[in-house]
Amino acid sequence: MQNMPSLFRLDGKIALVTGAATGLGAAIATGLAQAGATVACHGNRRAATETAAAIGGQAAAFQADLSSTDAASRLFSEVIAKFGRIDVLVNNAGMILRDQAEDYSLDAWQQVLQVNLTSVFQLCQLVGRDMITRNAPGKIINIASLLSFQGGIRVPAYAASKGGVAQLTKALANEWAGRNIQVNAIAPGYFATTNTEALQADETRNRQILERIPAGRWGHPEDLAGAAVFLASAASNYVTGHVLVVDGGWLAR
Ligand code: NAP
Repeated sequence: MQNMPSLFRLDGKIALVTGAATGLGAAIATGLAQAGATVACHGNRRAATETAAAIGGQAAAFQADLSSTDAASRLFSEVIAKFGRIDVLVNNAGMILRDQAEDYSLDAWQQVLQVNLTSVFQLCQLVGRDMITRNAPGKIINIASLLSFQGGIRVPAYAASKGGVAQLTKALANEWAGRNIQVNAIAPGYFATTNTEALQADETRNRQILERIPAGRWGHPEDLAGAAVFLASAASNYVTGHVLVVDGGWLAR
């Protein structure tokens, strides 16, 4: 058996983290790098150069707008051209558009579904296919949400997309477990990032949220790094199809 600290090491591993310029993605990219991985840091509006520079070493920044259906394959090709392979894929990029369900536009619905679910499938398929072709083990981590389990308020597309992320994770885990590719998800609770700015700014919702979190505080992006390192490392080699909730106890309440 490997000794315990080395079980969690990622030395020599190449990881791609989408949405790594900000928030949870930046913290996950930093955590994986601290565990030894070389990280390809993806950004949307601009390449995630600040995250890559802060990590240092061989980390590199990439840019792709995943609301376009051909962006995933271009991003995959660019990372492969730079690093040769991907051992760990973290599908973290995501967006949220809020409106009453009865007013929700089809454009908003399609954009959220493309970024949060379809592009996740596309990247999983590209990376998984390459791992299978190389007969190599691998790790895929999809960022789900509490709204993979709950309905939320004024976010029908987001809830549908994140429910889909949890189901996609299990579907791929079933198919690829025998290939030694583990596919898991992390469902973050309420984290203070731009994704939740509207909630943090709404005094009533902010109070209601805090009252329900047993830990008594919003999550900090760094609170996710340990879960990501676990699911990226050999420590989780017999864990697949799991949605790991990191929520300060919200769902247990
Ligand atoms: P964030 O800071 O807004 O991060 C979202 C990331 O997704 C950004 O880096 C953004 O890149 C990228 N992104 C947005 N639209 C994109 C597009 N069209 N193409 C490619 N990338 C795009 O918020 P966050 O909280 O860290 O969110 C990260 C993930 O966690 C998301 O999947 C979110 O749904 C999930 N999550 C967050 C919470 C929470 O409480 N914060 C809870 C549950 C789940 P740009 O900034 O360059 O646009």
